[in-house]
Order: sequence, then C-alpha cells, then structure tokens
Amino acid sequence: MSLGNISMSVYASAEARFEDAARRLKLEEGLYKYMKYPDKEITVYLPISMDTGKLEVFIGYRVLHSVIRGPGKGGIRYAPDVTLDEVRALAAWMTWKCAVVNIPFGGAKGGVICDPSQLSRAELERITRRYTAELADWFGPELDVPAPDVGTNEQVMAWFMDTYSMHKGHTATAVVTGKPLELGGSRGRREATGRGCMMVCNKALDLLGIEREGCRVVVQGFGNVGSMAAMLMHQAGYRIVGVADINGGLYNEDGFDVPALIDWVYNQRKPLPESLQGGTKMSSHDILFQPCDIVLPAATENQFTKENAHRIQAKILCEGANGPTTSEADSIVESKGIFVIPDILANAGGVTVSYFEWVQDRQGFFWRESEVNDRLQDVMEHSFDTVVHYAKTHRVNNRIAAYMVAIDRVATTLKMRGIYA
Ligand code: NAD
Repeated sequence: MSLGNISMSVYASAEARFEDAARRLKLEEGLYKYMKYPDKEITVYLPISMDTGKLEVFIGYRVLHSVIRGPGKGGIRYAPDVTLDEVRALAAWMTWKCAVVNIPFGGAKGGVICDPSQLSRAELERITRRYTAELADWFGPELDVPAPDVGTNEQVMAWFMDTYSMHKGHTATAVVTGKPLELGGSRGRREATGRGCMMVCNKALDLLGIEREGCRVVVQGFGNVGSMAAMLMHQAGYRIVGVADINGGLYNEDGFDVPALIDWVYNQRKPLPESLQGGTKMSSHDILFQPCDIVLPAATENQFTKENAHRIQAKILCEGANGPTTSEADSIVESKGIFVIPDILANAGGVTVSYFEWVQDRQGFFWRESEVNDRLQDVMEHSFDTVVHYAKTHRVNNRIAAYMVAIDRVATTLKMRGIYA
C-alpha cells in the first residue's frame, strides 16, 4: 500500500464512534478505560548505516492495544508523518475490526518514521531487520502478528519473517501475514479486501431488493482494494459507471470494461482518466457524487464530510477505504436513508484472509483459492447479518452497531477471563 498523510481527524472520528457505542452499551467505567487505552507501547531508536556510509537513527513504534481475544494483529507503516498517537489509534481500530468479523485476534499497529521513496532497497531492508530484531521478543505467532500497511509490502514482510526466524533459530512463517505465496502467503489475499466489499454489497442488494444485474457502482481509488472490487463486481454483473484514482475520475453511464481498464493502468501504464473507453472526465473527488446505486470509496480518508454528504446520490455506501466518512457526516448520510456498510465491516476481508494465512502457516497446510474464498464468504456474510440485525434490534445505524458488536465481544471475553491480579 502506498497511501500517506492520514490526518488525525480520522482517529478523532473513530474515537467519537467508540465513545458513542460504549455509552450506548452502558460500559462500566473500569471496562471503558481498559478498552480505551493500549496494553503496552514501545519506542525504538534504530541506528542504520546509510548507503553513503553515514549513520542515521530512525524512530519506530509498536503499540499492542489488546490481546484479550488473541494475539495482536496490525500492520507496520513506513511514512514520514508516523506518530505514536496515530499508531495508538490505528491499533485500537484493529481491535474493533477483528472483533466485528469475530476472528481470534486483538489489535496492534507499528510504524517507522521514514520516507520509503527516499530510501534504497538495501536501506529499507536494514531498517526492517533492525526494527524486527529490536522487537523480536514482542512479536510472535502467539503474541503479535504484523502485516503490510502504508509504505510496506510483501518484500518487507519477507525480510521481517527471515529476521525473526534467524533470532528464534527456526523458520516461523506465522509471525507475519501478507507474505509472498512462496514464503507461506495465502492464495486469495491480494483480492481479499475487494472481494469482501463485493460480498457485503451482494448482501445489501438482497436486503434492499435491488437487482445486481446492471446495478450502478462508482469506485474511487484504483489500487489494491478499488481495482479488485471493481473487477470482481464487473464479473458478477454490476455496472461500474465511475472510476477514479489520484490522476482524476471518469464517469460513463454505459459502464466500463474493467479488465481492459486494469490493463490500461497496470500494463500499459497510462493515466486512468485518459482511458479510450470514454466518459465524462472529472476530479477524483467529484466522482463520488455522481448518480449510482453503490458508492465505494477505496482511496483515502475524509471524503464525505458535513459540507458535502448531502450531495451523495447513491443508495448504498460501502466503505472500502478506512475512514472515508467523518463522524460529523454520519447523521447527514443517515438522514438521506443511505444504507452504510461501515469500514470496520466492509474492508475486513483483508484481515480475515490474513487470519487464514496465519492458520495455514501454523497448520503447514495450504488451501485452494476456492476454499479461501468460501471461508471468506462465510465470515463476511455472517458478520454483515450480525451487524444489520444488531442495528435493527437496538435502533442504531450500521456503523454504531458494528462498534457495539465489536466492543461487546471484547468486553464479554474480558469479563470471562477476569483481571489477572
Ligand atoms: P493502494 O495504494 O493500493 O491504492 C490507492 C488508490 O487510491 C490508488 O489508485 C491511488 O491512485 C488512489 N488515490 C490516492 N489518493 C487519492 C485521492 N486523493 N483521490 C482519488 N484517488 C486517490 O491502497 P489500497 O491498499 O487499495 O488501500 C485503499 C484504502 O483501503 C486505504 O484506506 C486502506 O487503508 C484501505 N484498506 C486496504 C486494505 C488492503 O488489504 N489493501 C485493507 C483494509 C483497508
């Protein structure tokens, strides 16, 4: 992944929803505090020999928010603007996301303040190896299992796995997910987040009585999540009428041939809005407000705000990205009767298949892609039903329902385990 500059307001929005859900659940104060604050956090100073021969020191963090339901799970971010506050908020976010899809992980997150675009491959490798080595006793298949995030990728996970394994004296593939297939990665991981988005959209259509054939979809972002969601939905009969990436947006009521668009962007390396398939060019922000049945933001945060939410024309908002809607926009979206599939549910297909990767590594037995997809479908559909049912019975919107389901699951486990003196 390559997105940077996620503003703090995303975390303020996440916190506002946690507070709202916790209040509605009438969480007792002690439990509320336990779940609000992380279990532990650490700062490491990483001395790195740069290619020039100069010695630099990089600052890294790891925050373990919760291990109540299982080992910590959460990515490692390499970006110039990483802060401990941000890592802390993202770690809590992971706890709720894992709980909403009911996978046996807690939440964690890590980061190193650096700019990967300014580092050589060898420097990136040294940073990764030193970060892993410094925290070798924090990580582990039973302790805390990282994954890629902004600025890190499969190669970084491979270095991470190798370094950890060297310290432990044996190959430990399950210490990290998002690895290359050859090193214990899972089939279907690359498509998992986009596929999960499609699965919950299918459920929403059934619920609302909308036909899938020809259902109009606008997708903002054409990276891992957006391009995969667009392609799989196109194959399933949806009509992808709007697409956008950092270069701009394109709207075509007749629908796009998505495999040809993927070829245009990824093989021919041409700008998305210049596609010869035609359509009306616009900014990548304006695409979100075009006529459609489903709007699927899959790029960056804070796209829907209290200033613009009234312009949404979709019936369904499926949040492929993390934090595309500010908490202030929630009530406007709700008042328009838009059916929201919130980020902690809609994009949880990625962490779910990461969980499958961890299971396969621990079994030493790898599943067919169809098995991965079938199991993902079970998880996504069941989680969708749980959230929607909760929303209906507790008269809250889907987003608050998702947080309430998650917080309630963590609180229930915590009460059963009790507090170790
Ligand atoms: P990516 O880097 O693969 O793709 C990002 C896409 O968004 C690119 O097409 C880029 O051109 C576009 N983009 C960037 N800034 C934009 C802007 N201002 N306007 C329009 N388009 C813009 O990233 P990704 O992995 O697809 O992640 C996208 C979102 O989904 C992020 O919010 C991420 O946190 C979230 N997410 C990703 C995963 C995953 O498995 N990759 C899982 C859960 C959530």
